[in-house]
Amino acid sequence: MNLEDDLAYELFSEMEIAERVAALGEAITKDYADKADEGIVLICVLRGAAIFMGDLARQIKLPLEMDYMAVSSYGNGTKSSGVVRILKDLSSSIEGKHVIIAEDILDSGLTLKFLIKSLKARKPASIEVCTLLRKDTPNQADVNCRYIGFECPNEFIVGYGLDYAERYRNVSCIGVLKPEIYS
Ligand code: 5GP
Ligand code: MG
Ligand code: MG
Repeated sequence: MNLEDDLAYELFSEMEIAERVAALGEAITKDYADKADEGIVLICVLRGAAIFMGDLARQIKLPLEMDYMAVSSYGNGTKSSGVVRILKDLSSSIEGKHVIIAEDILDSGLTLKFLIKSLKARKPASIEVCTLLRKDTPNQADVNCRYIGFECPNEFIVGYGLDYAERYRNVSCIGVLKPEIYS
């Protein structure tokens, strides 16, 4: 049994992802070199961004903290309702620190809009978003993402951390599931 047999097609290979993540890490290293003294916090939005953040963190050649947050958006199935609830909050204060949110995918944009608002209220020195994927979703909320890994089509994506019913997170590439998997 091979999980990758459930993909209709691959969007980004393991190699393409590694190259892109290295480039994102290099850009962040450059942009934050003079901010490291004030403290940099990478925030992982669980669970989808866990693999991405683990790889990204090792490509940022600066001292940094890693913290984790879990949110749930109420909604029907694969669509986000925009009502977001914090299931697990950060372990440490972000006041005065430079925050980079690592997210798996920007779809409607409502999760990130909520998160940015909620984290801004805690008075970080700065806050930016690094999303692995930005989906071509109609009426996407206007979210300022400084770092974007890949643009992707408006399909349901799995792999490299992203799940369908908690499966496929451990697939090394990013792809689109075969429609029959849903039914
Ligand atoms: P939003 O619609 O608020 O931008 O995205 C909410 C969350 O839905 C994302 O962080 C992600 O966890 C999940 N999501 C959105 N699109 C996809 C997708 O194509 N595949 C998977 N696995 N999750 C998605
Ligand atoms: Mg997510
Ligand atoms: Mg999910």
